[in-house]
Parts: sequence; structure tokens; C-alpha cells
Amino acid sequence: MIRRTADQLARPDFATIPRYGSGSEIAVNLSDNTNLWGTPPAARAALARGAAGGAAGYPDLYGRDLKNVVAERAGIAPECVVTGNGSDDILDCAIRAFADHGDRIAHPDPTFVMLPVFSRINGVVPVPVPLNDRFEMDVDALLVTEARIIYLCSPNNPTSTATPAAAIRRVIAEAPGLVIIDEAYAEFSGEPGFLSEAPGFDRVLVCRTLSKAYGLAGLRVGYGTASARIVETIERSRGPYKLNSLAEAAAVAAMTDDRDWVAARAADAVTNRNRLATELRALGLMPLESATNFLCVPTPKATAIAAVLRTRGVSVRAFENLPGIGDALRITAAPWELMQLVVDAVSEVTD
Ligand code: PMP
Repeated sequence: MIRRTADQLARPDFATIPRYGSGSEIAVNLSDNTNLWGTPPAARAALARGAAGGAAGYPDLYGRDLKNVVAERAGIAPECVVTGNGSDDILDCAIRAFADHGDRIAHPDPTFVMLPVFSRINGVVPVPVPLNDRFEMDVDALLVTEARIIYLCSPNNPTSTATPAAAIRRVIAEAPGLVIIDEAYAEFSGEPGFLSEAPGFDRVLVCRTLSKAYGLAGLRVGYGTASARIVETIERSRGPYKLNSLAEAAAVAAMTDDRDWVAARAADAVTNRNRLATELRALGLMPLESATNFLCVPTPKATAIAAVLRTRGVSVRAFENLPGIGDALRITAAPWELMQLVVDAVSEVTD
């Protein structure tokens, strides 16, 4: 029998997995692109009701109520919806379901930091493909990889930039295998995305989350749309009960009764993001063109600015040496008092 040390068993480099959240000393978290206006009212009420009802019973196996709500909104069949413990869970399971050990997954670089991590955890080799000079995904270069899975993220994290729908359609038409389109920030982009169309392609999985515009990051709710065949394959790659009852009740309430609140807060985020971009430009910085609820701001002073903000109880994400961009800050749009703290710190450091 071959014995493995714990070290060998822990094959994926867990040490490189970034820590979400920012530690208890941080009062204001502008580093995770969550909803800084909070949790919407109907979702809160559903949580309170759910908590009062207790938690002795199991939830539905695969989140049927949420599937129904998503299906209705997207105009598709409930069989074409997959739910998960955050969209992280759906990405992880889709990679496991559609790629074998040693297969490759092509992804834009930079992109969502967890994508290469989920790939390695599943024994799949991530193939980073640089963005083009407009910070959009380089469709030709992604296709040339002939990877088993192509992951697209539009709008993209951490660059905040969107890729034109026509370019995404080309990938869908020409990719040899599964195409994952991560639309975590779709609600801020003003674009419909591919949610409703995904089932029709039978090679596309679109992922969305309730962690951003919907203000439910703490509950871990994500969903995806795809053909019924793809959904079934993903569900077979893991066990049931990934969505707990409280999370599902709040998500259903948010997507049914909080739609106006969510749309209004997303509009606030876009307004404040644009205002912050204008203020930062006046201070000599050049934020990238954002289609999200955050700004990506290339600056060699990223770490210094983040450090100043940290002493004031505010966390922003400082990236070192992003491919094609260099050092950069990622700042979540929030009520203006918080944005002003960022402006103040930037003017102090760039003075
Ligand atoms: N995709 C992207 C592009 C993200 O930025 C994030 C969260 N930062 C996720 C997926 C994961 O979201 P969730 O909280 O639903 O797991």
C-alpha cells in the first residue's frame, strides 16, 4: 500500500487560497464587493421568520423553491437551474463534473482568484490567458488553448471590465468543451448577460450570486443556468443539501419581493462608483472602465493607500503586480461617507 503524508494528501496549495473577509479589527469592508447598503428588507423578514420556525428539518434536496424563482425570472424551465452554496460551489462542482484529472481549464488573467484554486483542487490544470489591451478577454487566445473548459468572467473581477457580448458568443460557438460564464456582477452592468440563453446552447453554464447586489453574502447562495443535461451532471457530482433552508427562504424573498430595493441600491453603487472614479481622476489616478460595483485602480501606491485606510478601520484590496496592470487597488462602491474616506487616504498618500 502506498502511504501518503498529510502534506502529500493536501496536494492543492491551500496556502495560496486567499482569505475572504478582513478580520475583526476592520469596521468597514470595501474589499469583497458586497452590498454596503446591507441586506434587503424582505430577505431580512424571511430570515427572522425562518429562524423562529427552527431548523429541525432538512431543506429541499436541490433548492427547488429558488430554482422556480430563477426559472420564472429567466423564462426557462426549473430543470435548467442549479443552486449552490455560493457561486463558488457551483464553479467548483462544474469543474469537477466536466473535467478529468489533468485536463485544462483556460481562463482570463487576471480573473477571479478562486478559479485557479478550484481547478487545482479538482486536479485540473489552469491555463491563464492575458487580457487584451482594452482589458477585455482575448477570445482568440482562449480558443487556441482548446481547453476542456473555458471560463469567462464578464464583468471581470478584479479588473471590473466587461467583454462585448459578441466576443462571448464567439467563444460559445467555437469552444471545444464547456463554457462557463461567470456573471457575478451582472446586476451592475446594465447588460442582460446570458442567463436566459444558456440552456439553449447545451455547452454553456452561466453562474450568478446573491452575494453582491442582493446583499446576502453571509448566507452563501449562488445559482446557475444551463441545459437540463448540464445541471443534472453538476448535481450528480456532489451531494444534496448545499442550500440551507434559511438561505433559500431569504434568497427567494430577495428575488421576489426585494427587486426594487436591489435595483435601487445597485444604481446607488453605480452612481458612487462613477463619482469616486471622477474624484480619483482629479487626484491623477486612472481607474479602469467599470461595469461592476467596484473600481480597479492601477497605482504603484496601492499597498501604501490600503495601509493608511486600514489604520482607519477600512479595508480595500491591494493587488501586487496584476498581469498587464501592475499594482492596483480594488475598491467596493459604498455610501458616499465611506468613499470619502478613500478619497482622503488617496490624497494623503499621493500628495
Ligand atoms: N465569481 C466572481 C467573479 C466573484 O467575484 C465572486 C466573489 N468574490 C464569486 C464568483 C463567488 O461568489 P459567491 O459568494 O457566490 O461564492
